[in-house]
Amino acid sequence: MTTSPRPTKITANREKAELTIVWNDGHVSVYSFSLLRHACPCAECMGGHENMRRDPDPVVFYLPAEDSPRTRLHLIEGVGNYGLNIIWEDGHRYGIYNWDYLRKLCPCEACQREREAQGLVPDEETIAKEIERRMNPPKQQIQIEFTL
Ligand SMILES: [Zn+2]
Ligand SMILES: [Zn+2]
Repeated sequence: MTTSPRPTKITANREKAELTIVWNDGHVSVYSFSLLRHACPCAECMGGHENMRRDPDPVVFYLPAEDSPRTRLHLIEGVGNYGLNIIWEDGHRYGIYNWDYLRKLCPCEACQREREAQGLVPDEETIAKEIERRMNPPKQQIQIEFTL
């Protein structure tokens, strides 16, 4: 049985807007904050629970980089010993990025070549649709009030 790689060091650099993970197998992943937000694994960002998946959607690697409160990192917290919770400046805080997910999200050239070899390359139409979907998020329909 192979055990999945685990981080030995995690560094967030707000100036560069980059998160760096050094893995215990020597691999180094450098994620732009923008990529991390695009790949937020929460149900809302994934378009509902039925679309929840374990692996990053390949389309996230092809979305345009963004610099806004959505993509500025406010805080990172460890979640148990299995992942990170990222809290963004716009208040979004629901994504739990586990180690396996983060490793599969590595945008380095070698990992990108591996994804291409597996055919994980979205076509132009899929990319365009995803950009459109993200620009027009569904409005929250449920109103919640405290009566006491
Ligand atoms: Zn999310
Ligand atoms: Zn990589």
